[in-house]
Amino acid sequence: MDFALTPEQEAIRELARDFAVREVAPVIRRFDEAHEFPADILTRLGTTGLLGALVPEEYGGAGLDYVSYALAVEELNRVDASVGITMWAHNSLCTNHITLFGSKEQKAAYLPRLARGESLGAWGLTEPGSGSDAAAMKTRAVADGGRFILNGSKAFITNAGVAEVMVVMAVTDPARGSKGISAFVLEKGMAGLSAGRPYRKLGLHASNTAELAFDNVAVPAANLKELIELARRSPLSYASSGIGTTTHLSMERIKQQAKVEITHVPYQPAQAVGAALAGHTQISSTSMPPAVPQVRGGRLRAIAVTSAQRSPALPEVPTLNEQGLSGFDDLTWTGFFVPAGMSQDLVNRLNSEISRALLAPDVHERLVQFGLEWNPNTSGEFAEFLRSEIEKWSRAVKESGAKAD
Ligand SMILES: Cc1cc2nc3c(=O)[nH]c(=O)nc-3n(C[C@H](O)[C@H](O)[C@H](O)COP(=O)(O)OP(=O)(O)OC[C@H]3O[C@@H](n4cnc5c(N)ncnc54)[C@H](O)[C@@H]3O)c2cc1C
Repeated sequence: MDFALTPEQEAIRELARDFAVREVAPVIRRFDEAHEFPADILTRLGTTGLLGALVPEEYGGAGLDYVSYALAVEELNRVDASVGITMWAHNSLCTNHITLFGSKEQKAAYLPRLARGESLGAWGLTEPGSGSDAAAMKTRAVADGGRFILNGSKAFITNAGVAEVMVVMAVTDPARGSKGISAFVLEKGMAGLSAGRPYRKLGLHASNTAELAFDNVAVPAANLKELIELARRSPLSYASSGIGTTTHLSMERIKQQAKVEITHVPYQPAQAVGAALAGHTQISSTSMPPAVPQVRGGRLRAIAVTSAQRSPALPEVPTLNEQGLSGFDDLTWTGFFVPAGMSQDLVNRLNSEISRALLAPDVHERLVQFGLEWNPNTSGEFAEFLRSEIEKWSRAVKESGAKAD
């Protein structure tokens, strides 16, 4: 067996050694004595690529082998173990958990910024009452609408007070014991999530080790699979702009393919986002312009886009096709809008007719029979077309005797 290091492994060792000697050694004593976290050192470490050591290159990481990684950890620890543990808890625990077990969307959302060192990661398993016996943990995550609610606490968490991304374990199915534990990705700033004061430890003074507390932290579904799973556990509803619209038909088609029930509540276009924000529905199936600012502001989580390609406005959000649902490649249905407050009975009848039409092999023709047009392009005539559709269907809704606010 050949134990000699490859030239690449030697180069990584050299890089880490050089960084530790030049950037860490001259200044770290001050941080250690003051029990202070050396944030600048970590920012600079990010530029070396070592905070993305194990992340695959496709997600912006260095994709190192484990020998190279161990050499880098060894070199940092040789000079200062606080910087060492900060780096390896970020890499081995948090980032690697997402790399190995995260969904495609979680990888796309978190790995690039973790790999570049723009965000530090933490990982929470240990609790005040459970260390070696990790399965004795008490932190619970309970499905509630379109999200999980976390309550409990974690102890001895490296980077707890400085991390922006945290992978934490919580019991989701107590009856299954150690098999009933799930991992959740949390982000700094989530309501009800807080880090305690750093412990005064006997050593590793410049590393941040603290408790994490969860007080009704709401974790929205991370992807379509999770959303469907949540819909199976508790009743969900979605807001879409009217009936027969792209947003409505997309959601109805998702329901059919996933064989799951989610109640449709029609809204005026501008209000479908507000419905989910205000908690009137758990999901909003809506167009991009009103949703994007809410997603960027952290008030909504984007689960999927219905288009064939990812949207340039939210490039990190996967398409439905990418998440395993077929038939959304060139989805450009246009339809009609109904006033909010239309009777739920009429909504249900229309939904079931539309669902039948969606299942038909001659789906395009059937939709035209319903007065819905298959419109593959979105030209300038689109607005005029919509206006006439709204007029036509408003009349039809009125004639049907439906009551509307
Ligand atoms: C600096 C530092 C950083 C940490 N960072 C993190 C982190 O980022 N994330 C995280 O989740 N946790 C973290 N931890 C927690 C660490 O993982 C726990 O300390 C560890 O799991 C042990 O748990 P415990 O301290 O409760 O010890 P215990 O489980 O109480 O163990 C105490 C002693 O008893 C022994 N023992 C336990 N059970 C048995 C048994 N059945 N038979 C024989 N001997 C046994 C153990 O070997 C140990 O010597 C950190 C801890 C420290 C000190």
